[in-house]
Formats: sequence, C-alpha cells, structure tokens
Amino acid sequence: MNCRNCHGENLELVIDLGMQPWGNNFLPISVNQTVPLYPLQSFFCHGCTMMQLGYTVPKETMFVDHNYVSGTTHSLRVHFKKLCEDMLKKIKFQDTDYVLDIGGNDGTFLAQFENKVKVLNVDSGVKQAEISNSNGIECINQFFNLKTAQQILSTRGHAKAIHGSGVFFHLEELHSVFEGIELLLAKDGVLVAEFIYLPDMVRNGAYDQIYHEHLLYYTLHSFSKLLAKHHLEIHDAELLPIHGGSCIAYISHQGEQKQTERLKDLLAIEENEGFNTADCYKQFAKRITGMRNDLVAIIRDLKNQGKSIQALGAPVKGSTIINYCQLSHNELDCAVEVNRLKCETYFPGTKIPVYHQDEVEKPDAYLLLSWNFKDEILSKLNDFRANGGKIISPLPQPELI
Ligand SMILES: [Zn+2]
Repeated sequence: MNCRNCHGENLELVIDLGMQPWGNNFLPISVNQTVPLYPLQSFFCHGCTMMQLGYTVPKETMFVDHNYVSGTTHSLRVHFKKLCEDMLKKIKFQDTDYVLDIGGNDGTFLAQFENKVKVLNVDSGVKQAEISNSNGIECINQFFNLKTAQQILSTRGHAKAIHGSGVFFHLEELHSVFEGIELLLAKDGVLVAEFIYLPDMVRNGAYDQIYHEHLLYYTLHSFSKLLAKHHLEIHDAELLPIHGGSCIAYISHQGEQKQTERLKDLLAIEENEGFNTADCYKQFAKRITGMRNDLVAIIRDLKNQGKSIQALGAPVKGSTIINYCQLSHNELDCAVEVNRLKCETYFPGTKIPVYHQDEVEKPDAYLLLSWNFKDEILSKLNDFRANGGKIISPLPQPELI
C-alpha cells in the first residue's frame, strides 16, 4: 500500500484491532443478516508521519445512509455556539460573505450564524441534508470534492470561511477535497478544521476513535504536510477536551497569516514527546491490549455475580470497543439509545440488540460507551446510581464507578 498523503511506500503496521464490521452498520433486528468484516489496522508513514488506516470501506457504504445526527448532543451544541462566536471575532465578514460547512450534518453548527452571516451546507447524508434544508439551512446533498467546489464557486463565489468538524479524517478523496478548498477559499479566507488530535487520543487512551470512517489521524505536524501540498498552512491551533481530545486548526493560504505562539508551542511538544515516531504508537498498542484485558475482567466479574449489564448508547466508536474486546450477547443484554434511528437493530458485528432507553428495564450496570461525555451522562444518572446502579467506564482506564 501507499501512503494516503505522500504516496510513499514506507508504512509500518503499529496498531492492529483485528477484523471489525463498519461500526455504523446497524442492521434491523428483522433483517437476519451477518455484516461483512474488514481489517482495522493503523499504519505509520515513515515518509510524512501520517497515521492512517490500511483498509478503506467505500465512502458510499459509510456516508450516504448513516444515522448520526449532530443535533442530538447537548455538549456539541454548546461547543458549536462558542466556536461560532470565536469565528465572528476572528474573521471580518462582509454582507456578501458566506460560511461553508463541509459535512455540516443536520445544520446544527451553521444554525449558530442565523441573522449574522450567510451559510451553505454540503453533506452526503440523505437524511441529514433533508433535516438541514427543512430547518432553513440550505444543503447540497453531495460529497465535497474539487467538482463540488467548482459548482459552488460558479454560483456563490469564494467562501470567506470554510468549516469542517469531524470530516477531515473521513476523506477517501483526500487530495480532491483539499484542491476544492484551495480553489473555493477566499484569498483572506479561513478554513476552520476540527479533528481528533492524535497526541491527545494517545494520551487519553482513546483507541475507540480508530474506526473505518477515520482514515487519517492527525498531528499538527502531519496535517501541515498535507496542507502544504495544496498551498495551505495552519496559522493557529487550539486543543479541546471533546471526543477524547480534539484540535481546532485555523488555516489560510500560504503567506497570508502569521503563525501564533501557541501553534509553535504545540508543534514543539509533538516533536519533543515523540509523536512523529512510530515507536510512540507501538507503545500505545501495548496499552490498548492492557485496557482490553482490564475491561473484560471487570465485566466477567460482574457477570459472575449474576449482574445484568447494558451498553449505554450505541455510538460508532463503541463498536470498536465491543468488537475488539469481543463482547457478545452473553455479556451485554442489550444497548440502549435515545436516537430512534438506531433502535430495533443489532450492534454491528454482534447479536446485541439496541432498544430505546425508555422501553427497557434498567440493568445493574451500564457500560458507558460515550465515555467522553461522562460528566453530562453521569449527572443524568444520579437516581440510577443512588439506587445502587453501577457505571463501567471503558476508557481512559477501565473502571467501575
Ligand atoms: Zn506519507
């Protein structure tokens, strides 16, 4: 295989999570089918330091008919509101300017700009585009790439700001997407890219961020190498705790903006702490094995005491944990969700059913798959815990709460 970024051949397998289903393949219980399995392996490129998956599940499988609706998470809405305020401070918008959101889902982020700046959403998800349009956020139901960028440019002109949250590691058409951004972004425009930050993912043990939708895992160093191919550069970056460690990078055309001190500091830390070496990720792989053994031990122990356990939530990243730890219907009675689109299905790769949270009895213990929203979720479970209910947090260190 060749590197997705630099096309070099010097790639090394560093993290192997085995054969796994596509983590969003929630098939209805009524459809008695097994889902296909694909290798879930991360490689380090010695040429450009980019961490990446070896195997690509076709994007049409993953992003046309999927169930993730961003408006459902309170923490995410709070975050988007703050980011919108930051962008309005940093970027001097004129009346004719617009903000483009790549993979803007149901329009939750762009809705923050209402009555302030014009907006345009591009999302490949059929349901998401429908919701966005019905909420008055115009959405083009396509994949964003060079061709889509050309279409938008011809009708709307250049974009003063382009935003993408959680999309820049999905990109199968990697270079076409950044060619599109280079073309569409105004000369003094800003690309605001939000992504899982690989160094924090490693520090937090968040191996559940490795799934087939995430083809790329960025450091600021490796992301810069990708952007440079398209005459773009990062001029500022900040780190956030969401999703087990995220980064917001502010990007412009080369030479348009000055690098901030905090960006220089972050780059120096990456270098000094070894995040540009394969060894760092091989060490991480050993920790992942330890986390699996600890989690399985906690669950076995509870089962030996005759306790019932349900997975709380059915996020795509939970599929990585469940399949890597080989948890089955014997350990987990079911998973419970509030997103109705996922109910009455099987957890991908298992016979663990997913039901609506209001429609099943509470268990003795919940396995907290959305552990990165732990505080928000724990505060909703005060009554459950007061009545003796337990919470199993699978990461960053498996524990029984
Ligand atoms: Zn490379």
